[in-house]
Amino acid sequence: MKLIELGLTEAVELVKKGELKAKQIVDDYISHIESEDPKIQAYLNCAFDRASSRALEIDNKKEKGRLAGAIIAVKDNIVTRGLKTTCGSKILEHFVPPYDAAVVERLEAEDAIIIGKTNLDEFAMGSSTENSAFFTTRNPWDLERVPGGSSGGSAAAVAALEAMAALGSETGGSVRQPAAFCGVVGLKPTYGRVSRYGLVAFASSLDQIGPITRSVEDCALITSVIAGFDPRDSTSARFPVPDYFSDLGEFSEKIRIGLLTESSLKGVKQEIAENYHRVQALMAELGFETKSLDLPSWQVALPCYYVIAPSEASSNLARYDGVRYGFRAEARDLSDMYVKTRTQGFGSEVKRRILLGTFALSSGYYDAYYAKASRARQVITGELQAAFELVDFILTPTTPEAAFKVGEKRDPISMYLQDYFTVTANLSGIPGISIPSGLTAAGLPVGLQILSRPFEESKLFKFAFKLEKSFDFQNNRYRINTSGRRKNEK
Ligand code: GLN
Repeated sequence: MKLIELGLTEAVELVKKGELKAKQIVDDYISHIESEDPKIQAYLNCAFDRASSRALEIDNKKEKGRLAGAIIAVKDNIVTRGLKTTCGSKILEHFVPPYDAAVVERLEAEDAIIIGKTNLDEFAMGSSTENSAFFTTRNPWDLERVPGGSSGGSAAAVAALEAMAALGSETGGSVRQPAAFCGVVGLKPTYGRVSRYGLVAFASSLDQIGPITRSVEDCALITSVIAGFDPRDSTSARFPVPDYFSDLGEFSEKIRIGLLTESSLKGVKQEIAENYHRVQALMAELGFETKSLDLPSWQVALPCYYVIAPSEASSNLARYDGVRYGFRAEARDLSDMYVKTRTQGFGSEVKRRILLGTFALSSGYYDAYYAKASRARQVITGELQAAFELVDFILTPTTPEAAFKVGEKRDPISMYLQDYFTVTANLSGIPGISIPSGLTAAGLPVGLQILSRPFEESKLFKFAFKLEKSFDFQNNRYRINTSGRRKNEK
């Protein structure tokens, strides 16, 4: 077996015991990335020198951390000291941050190794990586298809064995959707669970960093490391962090599962609905009590998100003015410089969001759009809270369809519809995980989303771990043939 095929938890165990050198692992990843990434294009920037010297340091340490030798890719909107952080945008093309994000500090403190920065839709706005100012990442299962987005580079890197795990970021589904498209696991933690310090802001009341991994176990381990209070993020929660990783056993209590009604699956591709029906049947086989949930506010979640997220983005992105950092256009005077910098520096989707958000916040329209969306957000949150009085988890498909072709979704609305199942978790702050739950007839991965109560990640991992074993997807994850497409056979 090649070292790149070794799972994160197994590799860390071997490095800790001194049976495997972190440097050997890094060397294997470097040669695999060099041969595979020209096809996949998951990385915007690799950090091979930094990774190699970190590996040597770790190999010389007596006491090794909880992630010793874990090879991690980081989405390029999470800042890394001395390592370019572009956000997939021309406006930050040459930006080298002077500090590390809290999550990067935490990973490195446990001896994880950052191998590179992954591609994304510009400023995390999109569902396919096609909005990256640099290039589109390809789905390792089918190179003609997108890996999802906005954390598409991170998900593709993990699926193509170009990293053991990755960090992505979520505002409306950007970890879970690409995880579903690439057949890997992706978690959006509870809002406030993971520090946003050093995550370039898109919509601050929705943003959260989350891991993308090959297994639920790996996801639990990484979350245990990156979660926790951070005084530098004013929305960070003070709750203690349980050891998610060591607590993946059986439930002692009775578990009730919430399922969507048939009418909520309207507009979902047939194969996705069929997969969901199989999951429904599995719940009964596993002995869980199920309940069909009526969630009418789900219908307004998408329009609500597409008012709130652009509104916050229009304010957050005001800082890219050519004065403080990033690209500055040649201009006659100050206001000409602002206009030219932003016109030339931002791509069309980012401009669309800034315009939408500025409009929604403007006087005379604020009540009709932003204030109304904020009220709808309260209703959505209330409805979910009530649902979680009746059930422990809510299951939904992660996406309405499997990975689509590059260039297929030309109008923005069809792209926005990708987020139908995911945005509610961001609007209400609850955690959600996507795990691979099967393959379409064409051999593309299908994801199942599991939602739970705020700060119940422990329970969520336990349940996801149990389902992962039932789906038996693990066996067909680790193979890549030379064309970069994964083989589906067991
Ligand atoms: N696809 C959604 C959007 O374009 C979600 C993005 C995200 O979660 N960062 O806004």
